[in-house]
Formats: sequence, C-alpha cells, structure tokens
Amino acid sequence: MDILSAPASTQETKTIQPVVIAVPKEQVTGEQRVATVPEVVQKLTKAGHVVRIEHDAGTAAYYPDALYTAAGATIVAGRHELFSGAKVVLVVQPPTVSDVDLLAEGTIVVGFMNPTRNLDAIARMRDRKITAFALELVPRITRAQSMDALSSQATAGGYVAAVLGADNCPKFLPMLTTAAGTIRPATVLILGAGVAGLMAIATAKRLGALVEAYDVRRAAGEQVRSLGAKFLELEINAEGQGGYARELTAEEKVKEQEMVSAAVARADIVITTAAIPGRKAPVLVTKKTVATMKPGAVIIDMAAESGGNCELTQAGKTVKEDGVMIIGPQNLPARVPFHSSQMYAKNLQSFLGLLITKDGTLVTEFSDEILTASLLVHAGKVAHKPTADLLNRGTP
Ligand code: NAD
Repeated sequence: MDILSAPASTQETKTIQPVVIAVPKEQVTGEQRVATVPEVVQKLTKAGHVVRIEHDAGTAAYYPDALYTAAGATIVAGRHELFSGAKVVLVVQPPTVSDVDLLAEGTIVVGFMNPTRNLDAIARMRDRKITAFALELVPRITRAQSMDALSSQATAGGYVAAVLGADNCPKFLPMLTTAAGTIRPATVLILGAGVAGLMAIATAKRLGALVEAYDVRRAAGEQVRSLGAKFLELEINAEGQGGYARELTAEEKVKEQEMVSAAVARADIVITTAAIPGRKAPVLVTKKTVATMKPGAVIIDMAAESGGNCELTQAGKTVKEDGVMIIGPQNLPARVPFHSSQMYAKNLQSFLGLLITKDGTLVTEFSDEILTASLLVHAGKVAHKPTADLLNRGTP
C-alpha cells in the first residue's frame, strides 16, 4: 500500500521515521517545471516526512514559496543547505556534476536522467555511491501507470504542439459560416499517434480542424478513429516489442514516404511525434516534400531534440522554407508548467510509495520490478546495462 495515502488514523498511531526529501530549483534554461507541488508536499508532511524546497523552486510554474510553506515544507536559500542530510532528492532534469558533488553517499535521486546524454553526471553518481532512479526506465505496466512521467509529460507536450500549430497558422482551424462567407476548416496532420500524438489529435479536433493521423503501429488506428480523426492506412504492421515501433524495411519506407508525403502536401499544420526509443528520430518529411506544401503551412516537429522528423528542422529554432514554417521546439511540457509540474509531482508521489515503506522508512532492497527496472545507479555501479555499456565504451 502507498504510505502517502495511508489513512490518517494509521499514521497517527505509528512513529514515523522522517525521510528528508529535497527539491531543488531547476537550473536548465527554459525549464519552468518543478518536481513537486504543494498538494503533494502536504501529503508527504502529513505522513511525517520533512520536505525542503529551494527558494523559488516553484515560482516559474506559479507555485510560490508561500504555498509550499503552508503545505508544511521548509524553504531553504541554497543548494548546500538543501542537500545537507537529505535522503531523497526529487528533480525534473538530471542532476549536474556539481549538484552530485553536494550529495552524501547513499542519497537517492529520482527524476528524468536522460541516460544517453548525461554520462558525466551518471559516472559521478556511480563514483560517489549515489542511488539514481530514472523515470524514463519505469516499465509501462498497468501498476506503473500512475508513475509514468514519460506519458504525463508527452500529454502536456502534445497539447502545446497543437496550440502552437494553431497560433502560427494563418487560417482559422474550425469551419465558419458567416455573413462574410464560409470558411473551410484547416487540415491538421499528426505523424506518430503515441501519447503525445493522441493528445495533439484531441486538441486539434477540439479546435475544429479536420484531423488526419498516421502511425506505423496499426493498433494506433483504433485510438485515432475513436478521437474522430482519419487514420491513414499503409499495408504494413510495424509494431515491435512492448507496444513500441520497430524499424521499417527499405521497401516499406518507400511506400510509407509516398503516402505520408501526399498527406503532408494537403495539410495546413503538420505535427510530428514519431520516435523509436534509443534511436535517432525517423525522417518522415523531406526537404522535397516541404517544397510541395501550401504557403503558410506550419510544421511542429516534436522530435526536434532527437534529430527531427523533418529534414529541415533545427532544434530550438524556427526555419522558413518555401513559405512553410518549420518549428523545432524544445521542452514543450515546460510551456504549461503549472499542469505539467502537477502531473509530474503526482508521478513522483506514486514512485515514492514504492521507496518509502508503510512505517516511513526507506526501502533498502529494490526488489519491486518497477524499482529494479528504473534503477540507474546504485552502490558504485551503473545498474542499467545500456548506460553501463556506453560508459565502458568511452569516457568518462
Ligand atoms: P514514442 O514517443 O516512443 O513514439 C511516438 C509514436 O511514433 C509511436 O506511436 C510510434 O509508433 C510512432 N512512430 C515511430 N516511427 C514512426 C514512423 N516511421 N511513422 C509514424 N509513426 C512512427 O511512443 P509513446 O507515445 O511513448 O508510446 C508508445 C507506445 O506505448 C504506444 O503504443 C502507447 O499506447 C504505449 N503506452 C503504454 C502505456 C502503458 O501501458 N502503461 C503507457 C504509455 C504508452
């Protein structure tokens, strides 16, 4: 049972061994999210734990210090004081090497760890015997749904992508019948109908657009149609292990390209979300296809940070080519920081329910399958084999 939701009567009669939980202010430029919110802090402090929040940690997400104080947290001025004696540190972005140097041996850090791009800090956590859990590695099993931060943040990202597309489109999205004439609805194409894609579809539908979508996984068709959008069919099924996509063969890629290119050419907004875990994003919109698009068309490339689904995408930039705007946004969930932080904080609250026992102590055996799968670094070793292999192959 989740200690954080234990009935008050149980909590009152037991002597809780308080766990000191620290939440730093995020340092990455543009990161507006925070790893916990006052509502979750209140549950933790009521359960007898000590929560320390770095001054202004939630300000960018519109959770001022005063709300954390009211929820029972202590606001501290700097990293030294924050981390001193902390047993658990909750983060959104991976810790930096200098933060790791401030943590005592055995501290548990939970958050996104971005293992492939964060090897220096992972090596430092290994050397300083820090324990790190990576939320990217939480298995997508039913019991772990409440801890699935990839999904909660992809939901936020998909919403923002659709709104960003509408904001940059020179057309109305809905059909309008007015005294000044009838306006045809805009066409929005979503490539990749995973968590983010489905949210983008739902949002574009709510704005009144005609929505088409494509995914290499045939199973996605049913979900797309249930949202009232049209699913583009290709006579192949590229569903791989665990519900993720497998890579297509060369012949399949040509067929896919032709069908996708025709759909891109008729769209006013294209939102691309296609990803294959651990690999560079597949290119679905070539430079040649962009040249066939309508003037004023917009591409929102949600895969910008992993190489881009459009050949012309530049991560963090907006490119204009042949009258088409290609936006390569970074960290879309950070643009709705209030709700993305709220969802993320709930994911962490559930995860803490596995780490902290009913009597308030931290577990020392990570035998639960969710903890085993998401354990990245522990007791001087990198527990996640692909990351350990990457570290062994090169520096550091
Ligand atoms: P993702 O971010 O890895 O990829 C996004 C989408 O891109 C996927 O739907 C993928 O099939 C698609 N894609 C890959 N290559 C493509 C191509 N060439 N053309 C078009 N589309 C392409 O995926 P995700 O959003 O993390 O979700 C992946 C799967 O996991 C989905 O089936 C989702 O329903 C499932 N899932 C399950 C759980 C759970 O059971 N707890 C939770 C979340 C997601």
